[in-house]
Amino acid sequence: MAMMDHEKHEETGPLEAQLLAAGITPTPQRRRIATLLLSRPTHLSADEILDRLDRAGGGVSKATVYNTLKLFVEKGLVREVIVDPTRVFYDSNMGRHHHFFDEETGKLTDISTPDLQISGIPQPPAGTVISGVDLIVRVRGEPRDG
Ligand SMILES: [Zn+2]
Repeated sequence: MAMMDHEKHEETGPLEAQLLAAGITPTPQRRRIATLLLSRPTHLSADEILDRLDRAGGGVSKATVYNTLKLFVEKGLVREVIVDPTRVFYDSNMGRHHHFFDEETGKLTDISTPDLQISGIPQPPAGTVISGVDLIVRVRGEPRDG
């Protein structure tokens, strides 16, 4: 089990620079959450983040995790992917893309936009324009015979 290095807070790494550039003060808790989310493209729920922080030694409250995620969303570092109200993922891939959601494993994976065409989008309500389409394609394991 790899333990998270708690003592490495002092150096200014790319993640800290990314937080500062977004106008976020890089507190130790925020840095730890940023390490989980921003080091590579990933999809994590708040519970998964909390779980990983706990396993790495804890010290970050649920409220801090939620507040930090809200801040990261507001500042454009991650986006929320809401599969349903009980399944909200935080996605560090900020490019336009869609998702497969596996109903059995609960895993979210990216669909790169060039593979996908959506036709027949209805006219938006009067006075509005379409700002984006976020598609979640739900999948499950193929049924096994016998
Ligand atoms: Zn994604």
